Amino acid sequence: MGSITPSGGYKIQEVPLGSPRPFRLVCIDAGYSGLLLSIIVGQKMQGENLDYQVYEMNGDLGGKWLVNSYYATASSIHHYLKDTAVKYDCE
Ligand SMILES: Cc1cc2nc3c(=O)[nH]c(=O)nc-3n(C[C@H](O)[C@H](O)[C@H](O)COP(=O)(O)OP(=O)(O)OC[C@H]3O[C@@H](n4cnc5c(N)ncnc54)[C@H](O)[C@@H]3O)c2cc1C
Repeated sequence: MGSITPSGGYKIQEVPLGSPRPFRLVCIDAGYSGLLLSIIVGQKMQGENLDYQVYEMNGDLGGKWLVNSYYATASSIHHYLKDTAVKYDCE
């Protein structure tokens, strides 16, 4: 087992054959769906051999409720979403 280094070299990893690698789980979305997945991962998958990463192209979480400002209650929905993220340590 090995990996390519940032400089383009190859690094051999000194681990026994058959060692379980972390399961890589990628979420592309920091809106409601991504927040829900992050809460589930945080609550149900603690201690698992999991490499979890959220990718979001916007500068903040919120999805539709971050970018849509014409909707009268968008701000309160976005605040609720942010508060929920903080509450479950998913921010
Ligand atoms: C005008 C309008 C009104 C709505 N009203 C309601 C309502 O009253 N009640 C309700 O329940 N729902 C409503 N919805 C639906 C709304 O989409 C959902 O409430 C919810 O926001 C969907 O969450 P989501 O996480 O699935 O998607 P989104 O909120 O759309 O989040 C997707 C995220 O993924 C990111 N993303 C996408 N592609 C990439 C990429 N390639 N790389 C990185 N990041 C990426 C986006 O930047 C975005 O932040 C409304 C939607 C609209 C447009």
